Amino acid sequence: MPNWKGIVGQSFSPSEFSVYCHQLHWTSWRPSFIVVHNTAIPTLAQRPNGLTLQHIKGLEVFYRDKQKWSAGPHLFIDDKQIWVFTPLTVSGVHSPSWNSTALGFEMLGDYLKESFTTGRGLKVRQNTIAAISIVSSVLGLDPRTLRLHREDPLTTHACPGATVRKLEIIQAVQDSLVSMHAGEHPVKPVA
Ligand SMILES: [Zn+2]
Repeated sequence: MPNWKGIVGQSFSPSEFSVYCHQLHWTSWRPSFIVVHNTAIPTLAQRPNGLTLQHIKGLEVFYRDKQKWSAGPHLFIDDKQIWVFTPLTVSGVHSPSWNSTALGFEMLGDYLKESFTTGRGLKVRQNTIAAISIVSSVLGLDPRTLRLHREDPLTTHACPGATVRKLEIIQAVQDSLVSMHAGEHPVKPVA
């Protein structure tokens, strides 16, 4: 197997993920933007309880032993949690044009067919926006640099599904960054 980079295999709530990201050091590799994906298969319906550690270990077997890749995407995000797969501090394998420059975040679901604005899909969307906001804040990434996998000229994949709209995600991340920063720098009371 070709120098498999290993997985972290830990899951976090958004606030735990923020603490986790703040103690990482991007010394050997520093990504300059984020690429958003959806798993398509499995769908949300095929994972009624979200992704378990067993699913994550199955994904490791798939990428390492079947695809024979050196790594996979960095995050798998479902309606319950943020799973760290490939360490965020090393390059992953997820978008042919951008593996060496971008982080890859996989959302559980098929957002051609499943709702991204209601129910479990909405929760996936919210966890994804939280994850993008946290990583953008820690790395100083401009949310406008966000890309969808289907924008990669070297891919024919309609990933993520068409109901995932880039400008809406960017707007939501910008809003979330504003409120994060408002919390960090409270307005001083007038004397
Ligand atoms: Zn993709």
